[in-house]
Amino acid sequence: MIDNGIPIDVAVIGAGPSGLAAAIALKQAGVGRVAVLEREPQAGGIPRHCNHPPYGLREFGRILKGPEYAARLVASARNAGVEIHVSITVTSIHGDGLLRLSTPEGVFEITPRRVIYATGVRETPRSARLISGARVQGVVNTGALQSMIYLKHRRPFRRPVIIGTELVAFSALMTCQSAGVRPIAMIEADAIATARWPSAIYPRMRGVELLTNTRLVEIEGDTVVQAVTVANTDGQTRRIECDGVILTGSFTPEVALARCGHLDVDPATGGPVVDQWGRCSDPAYFATGNVLRPVETAGRSWAEGRQTGAWVAQDLAGKLPSHDAKPLRILLGDARIKYAMPQVIYPSKGAGGMSEIQMRVRERVSGTLIARMQGRPVWQRRLNTRPERRIAVPIGEIISQAAADCVEFTIE
Ligand SMILES: Cc1cc2nc3c(=O)[nH]c(=O)nc-3n(C[C@H](O)[C@H](O)[C@H](O)COP(=O)(O)OP(=O)(O)OC[C@H]3O[C@@H](n4cnc5c(N)ncnc54)[C@H](O)[C@@H]3O)c2cc1C
Repeated sequence: MIDNGIPIDVAVIGAGPSGLAAAIALKQAGVGRVAVLEREPQAGGIPRHCNHPPYGLREFGRILKGPEYAARLVASARNAGVEIHVSITVTSIHGDGLLRLSTPEGVFEITPRRVIYATGVRETPRSARLISGARVQGVVNTGALQSMIYLKHRRPFRRPVIIGTELVAFSALMTCQSAGVRPIAMIEADAIATARWPSAIYPRMRGVELLTNTRLVEIEGDTVVQAVTVANTDGQTRRIECDGVILTGSFTPEVALARCGHLDVDPATGGPVVDQWGRCSDPAYFATGNVLRPVETAGRSWAEGRQTGAWVAQDLAGKLPSHDAKPLRILLGDARIKYAMPQVIYPSKGAGGMSEIQMRVRERVSGTLIARMQGRPVWQRRLNTRPERRIAVPIGEIISQAAADCVEFTIE
């Protein structure tokens, strides 16, 4: 029972790898009542419906399939004394940590001392991708596909095409193959697959054509998908008969609560604005895992959750620098830089926090990434990178130069 009269020290919204890891770290740091709130009937987050490896190497020292990994995370949290409440949706967030909850027993309000926001990411739906053609059945995201196949044991189609080549596209391919679905082609607008080598050879090994420099133009069909038209960079079009379309990648943080609530949201990451401890614009709230930015693996989200749990415990003990101090804001002075997270840094010594500013670019980039304060270069690094590759800027080196209220990044 969530409302048992005992005050909650920390509520964690979302029982994925990051939320569960944060909750475990809080208990390990001696925090009293830690409650994880999960809207699904089962805890574990996205890995619950990724019935394939490789999960768990960093966390459990072995390679596991998603559901096994999720079950282990849940068991570890329960063993650590974490309360996990499922089928509870946080419907709104307010100042001072006030949360409104919808539960099978009715609507409740709770006011924990701190809240950790760990709601993960989702893939952009068809409507937001502006794909033209017929509105027919059989166009799904990877998440919906995995839920249909692994959780509901339904096979939505037999010969789909997969759009995109981020890592999750290979998760979609493995999901299809586990259910006897045989994708015809993977379609990538860029010249090479987005996921790192050797993932690009995997489709070919499985008899799936990889079409690069190619984009989806139109979906055809009456009630269900019958074909797609794709075009290459020379403008040549090709019609591919198929009975489904899997839209992969194009992740966006699950931030409805922040957008409808009072937390600042960063248009670049799509996630809440945070400092180097994951602390949001209302210091009663922290954020962790993939809600911070699109997108990292389960292992990295778990590691972030663990750190955030430890920082929240420090905060409860009054050991984090004040939120009222003047922060250093991070500015993106080049349209090719997609995002930077955290968005603000407190130049404080010895208080820990994230060691890196995480960045990504929108397109292939070769040049020098330069950080400037008041026009003066304070840090730089050669960059030869592509979209969806992690770029790490050491926060310690930026802080040691901090003599202004903002640092601007450009690529030259
Ligand atoms: C379709 C898809 C496939 C993926 N495949 C892989 C893969 O194969 N390998 C990999 O490493 N990574 C994969 N990822 C990345 C994935 O995000 C991470 O693996 C990991 O799950 C991130 O952990 P998290 O805790 O940040 O978020 P999640 O695991 O997404 O957990 C967030 C939890 O918050 C809950 N929640 C959201 N809103 C509310 C609310 N208002 N109230 C209560 N609960 C709420 C959700 O139900 C969910 O359980 C995939 C992501 C997606 C979207």
